[in-house]
Amino acid sequence: MSGPRIAVVGAGIVGASIAYHLAVRGAAVILVDAAEPAAGVTGRAFSWINIAHTRPHPYQALRQAAIGDWHRIEAELRGAVTVDWCGALSWDEDPAETERLVAHHVAAGYDVRLLGRAEISAVEPGLVEPPRGAAHAPGEGAVDPVAATRALCAAAREAGAELRFGARVVGLMETGGRVTGLALEAGEIAAEAVVLAAGVGSTDLARSVGVALPLRASPATLIRMRTPGPLVRGIVCSPALEVRQAGDTLMLSAADYIDDTPEHGPMAIGRRVLEAVRSGIRGAQDVELIDAVPGWRPMPQDGAPIVGFAPGIGGLYLAAMHAGIVLAPVVGRLAAAEILDGRAADALQPCRPERFRL
Ligand SMILES: Cc1cc2nc3c(=O)[nH]c(=O)nc-3n(C[C@H](O)[C@H](O)[C@H](O)COP(=O)(O)OP(=O)(O)OC[C@H]3O[C@@H](n4cnc5c(N)ncnc54)[C@H](O)[C@@H]3O)c2cc1C
Repeated sequence: MSGPRIAVVGAGIVGASIAYHLAVRGAAVILVDAAEPAAGVTGRAFSWINIAHTRPHPYQALRQAAIGDWHRIEAELRGAVTVDWCGALSWDEDPAETERLVAHHVAAGYDVRLLGRAEISAVEPGLVEPPRGAAHAPGEGAVDPVAATRALCAAAREAGAELRFGARVVGLMETGGRVTGLALEAGEIAAEAVVLAAGVGSTDLARSVGVALPLRASPATLIRMRTPGPLVRGIVCSPALEVRQAGDTLMLSAADYIDDTPEHGPMAIGRRVLEAVRSGIRGAQDVELIDAVPGWRPMPQDGAPIVGFAPGIGGLYLAAMHAGIVLAPVVGRLAAAEILDGRAADALQPCRPERFRL
């Protein structure tokens, strides 16, 4: 390794992807995590690589590039990561809103179509009550987030990165307005640049060098259910339910998080989701709830990713986002180019930390 020494904090899918892309470009990377790969919210993600169900937002170009970058990662990692390109069906309570969303994405050149009831039934025969209209994005899919993160870490190591797990970072080191490395519970790591991809843990670490990251921990619930066989073909996202098969007998669902009381806690939400599955999907009477667990998403104040060098301090690159599964490959590629080439990526402009007063 002859390139600059770069420390990446966080082996969730975002940090693993950035470490991989830096390492294959020749940087001397050290990837550090307090636990193990995907131990954070990545391990609790529904993991839908989605575009069509998102409202128009300033970072749309980045999101649209995401699918191509996932295909590239599949090719580069030669079978170590496989995305299930099963397609996605989604609709809103208000059919006019679904139509608006489809029109918006079609105008932006995205492969999505508005389907009527008969076509919806052909795509998802298991739906008990298909809606009047739904958006169908045949090119969307889902990935096993834990397997993908581990594969990215392994590929980073193969490209020369050092991986250090079970090592908590307690603060960033700074000299003369420049970040110079990491302070660990045991020891220090010197680095010419630090990438902060520690999910909700990034806030405290940024604060250690006076950077106020406008990030909150936003909870959501991942529900796992055992099915007698595959009940849906692709991703189904309705106002009542968001589900996909993650294997012939495993169904995943994502739902809001309310609190941790017995009436509204994750298992109570899981039971409600189970009822919605049993009543909304054919052949689902024997579906069983396995578990329901909350995950804490790194949610930037305005919802858009925060990616780029922190203003006012040298050598600190921030990478925090709530659609981290969708964006990890594209952000990894563009962040590595920005850090190593010093060339700002157009697609990352709406994600700049400078839009906040840090
Ligand atoms: C129910 C649910 C459904 C979701 N569905 C989707 C979806 O369909 N599509 C999508 O794109 N996103 C989805 N998400 C969001 C997605 O999970 C996150 O955006 C993504 O995983 C963030 O990845 P990350 O690498 O930034 O953070 P994390 O995965 O949290 O990784 C951060 C890592 O940093 C480490 N760390 C933290 N602090 C320190 C420290 N001080 N020292 C060392 N290491 C530290 C942690 O151990 C962790 O491994 C979902 C989330 C939930 C909860």
